[in-house]
Amino acid sequence: MSENVKFEKREELKQKPDPSNLGFGQHFTDYMLSYDYDEDKGGWHDLKITPYAPIELDPAAQGLHYGQAVFEGLKAYKHNGEVDLFRPDQNFKRINQSLARLEMPQIDEELLLEGLKELVNVERDWVPEGEGQSLYIRPFVFATEAGLGVHPASHYKLLIILSPSGSYYGGDALKPTRIYVEDKYVRAVRGGVGFAKVAGNYAASLLAQSNANKEGYDQVLWLDGVEQKYIEEVGSMNIFFVENGTLVTPELNGSILPGITRKTVIELAKELGYKVEERRVSVDELFEAYDKGELDEVFGTGTAAVISPVGVLKYEDREIVINNNETGKITQHLYDQYTGIQSGKLEDKHGWRVVVPKK
Ligand SMILES: *Cc1c(COP(=O)(O)O)cnc(C)c1O
Repeated sequence: MSENVKFEKREELKQKPDPSNLGFGQHFTDYMLSYDYDEDKGGWHDLKITPYAPIELDPAAQGLHYGQAVFEGLKAYKHNGEVDLFRPDQNFKRINQSLARLEMPQIDEELLLEGLKELVNVERDWVPEGEGQSLYIRPFVFATEAGLGVHPASHYKLLIILSPSGSYYGGDALKPTRIYVEDKYVRAVRGGVGFAKVAGNYAASLLAQSNANKEGYDQVLWLDGVEQKYIEEVGSMNIFFVENGTLVTPELNGSILPGITRKTVIELAKELGYKVEERRVSVDELFEAYDKGELDEVFGTGTAAVISPVGVLKYEDREIVINNNETGKITQHLYDQYTGIQSGKLEDKHGWRVVVPKK
């Protein structure tokens, strides 16, 4: 164990779940990483690996009342006995951006990465090895200070929990999804917290998500919060369109979450010789392209689902079927390349895979 991380051993280890039926985010490992921030103790202290267990929280903890809560999501993969994290530096960089937006204290990105590597090393037997499986990693920070005054808290807790997981939407990772273009509610507005991975963004999205589910759709596609005309992103994914062979994705405008999968797909697609445009895309443009026969493919990107094809788009009273409700060629190509690099089957020219040292 590194001298920066303490270790509290648990008495009894848990029974591991059946690897053929993991689901997503349902099982948690034996240990978690914990880190506390107390202004009166000089800031962050006591980085430790402790048994995964319920935590004690004061009922007046500010995070419960005023929503100072941010999170991250990344994955670890196992191949030939090696365990890798995928671009973890990007997640720790982004959590600091989210923390800054909610006036929460910054973390030391390198120290946290060191702590995460120690945690994943301790739990390496929990990293599943099957096709499409990974260890989903959830870092999160929330305000623990007790008190009902509205101000930035002076006490916080950071935890990292681990969940062996299968594919996000269950079953076939490349089964096209049905998407409802939301024309009533909005997720985020410019100047707000849309670009930050804060818990409240998800709370604000659930009503529309439930309504879409009731109508038989898997996810909501959000439009911009001002004109409700321009495309932003899907529930927990960024979105890409293939128009006439060119990849088009909404530009980062402050209300869209800057996905690491989005960024990686853009880098990868350019290298593979595809043309990529980051710009404003209106929902009207999309339907016009469809009518002209120029909307070839649509897919979403996010750590949990990786690359997920969209088969149906519903907007107002129109429903369109994309690429015959089948996974498109470019979607498949990018999926194979992306998951090939993640899973160690393809060469990693960029150093995106970060090895967890075996100790
Ligand atoms: C996390 C998230 C994404 C995807 O980001 P990745 O870094 O690719 O996992 C997209 N949209 C929202 C709202 C998110 O919270």
